[in-house]
Amino acid sequence: NIQLSRKHNDIAPSVTLFVDAKAKEMQAKGINVIGFGVGEPDFRTPENIRKRAIYSIENENLGYTPASGLQKLKEAICDKLKLDNGLEYKMEHIIVSNGAKHSLYNAFQAICNPGDEVIIPSPYWVSYPEMVKMADAIPVFIDCPEEKEFKLDIKDLKNAITSKTKAMILNSPSNPTGSVYTKEELEEIAKVAVEKNIIVISDEIYEKLIYDDATHVSIASLNDRIKDLTIVVNGMAKAYAMTGWRIGYTASNAQIAKIMGNIQSHATSNPNTIAQYASIEALSGDQTAIENMRLAFDERRKYMVDRINKIPGLSCIVPKGAFYIMMNISQYIGKEFNGNKIKGSLDFADLLLEHAHVAIVPGAAFGVDQLMRISYANSMDNIKEGLTRLENFLPQLK
Ligand code: PLP
Repeated sequence: NIQLSRKHNDIAPSVTLFVDAKAKEMQAKGINVIGFGVGEPDFRTPENIRKRAIYSIENENLGYTPASGLQKLKEAICDKLKLDNGLEYKMEHIIVSNGAKHSLYNAFQAICNPGDEVIIPSPYWVSYPEMVKMADAIPVFIDCPEEKEFKLDIKDLKNAITSKTKAMILNSPSNPTGSVYTKEELEEIAKVAVEKNIIVISDEIYEKLIYDDATHVSIASLNDRIKDLTIVVNGMAKAYAMTGWRIGYTASNAQIAKIMGNIQSHATSNPNTIAQYASIEALSGDQTAIENMRLAFDERRKYMVDRINKIPGLSCIVPKGAFYIMMNISQYIGKEFNGNKIKGSLDFADLLLEHAHVAIVPGAAFGVDQLMRISYANSMDNIKEGLTRLENFLPQLK
């Protein structure tokens, strides 16, 4: 009867990974499931990046690198931040980690004390609240409704701030909503953060996947005061179809970077050396593959938005970034299938998977029960077939 970690007992498993696992289990049984649950590009890592990894295996020293990352990779990251985001950082501001998820984990560990509050706009990415809790801090949610494009209202932000507020999370483009903040909106947020001395954790991992008239602005680039308060989080996974390579990074003030580097030096040491070499190529090599992937995502996004809004009882707003759509299912909540009532997004997701063989992540995972997150990181053929299955199944809900 050993008492295990009380803090970690309270950590929920990732629902997005759970839906994916269940879909894969059905697939293994020979059932053809269309997966709209995944959070990864369906493209291969571009060839130049794969080749660079192979080259490093054959020709480079694959021993430990400095715990916070290879100097050459940090230089490539600094160049990228300058070129893409107008941000001037030096090597000592950069920490390279095992994916952006690890970067975020390090960030919360580095800044939080027990009882600190961290503001999370909701719908939120599934891991934020759990990571905040793992750092002994308290997640404070701000509801960002669909009518406001799922974006933070500055009045709500001001109201949520207390003497215990340590940080806020900003995720633009957003997973799960696809919302992208404009420069003007970021300026308002930055003003409040500076006034109240709050750290902004700016998760910019979907930066390259942006559509229509939207552009990506890093909040850190607005002025020096907000830059000093911001931890920019980014990584290779989504832009370069490198999810399994596990390379992410942060740019922050030197003090925070030092603490994060120290934590990492004891927890994991350096991220995989081969993946670090490949990431140098990703950031500094030919970028045309990124644009080709973005164009493919854009085409699927438009198709999916159009079809969803034509299916009776479903609707969605047009997302401007990432590869997700938040599908509103409120008209189906309370209906029944075979005498079983649909109480919320979890029931809805279960029914779709079981009876329509379509995997979609329930909004409950992101703090919103009348919505579902549907990913368009899938082939056009699968998207067409999946939506047809959805369309054919829904009339059975009475
Ligand atoms: N941040 C957001 C918003 C994400 O959606 C993800 C991945 O799903 C990550 C961070 C983590 O990315 P990585 O694979 O680099 O750990």
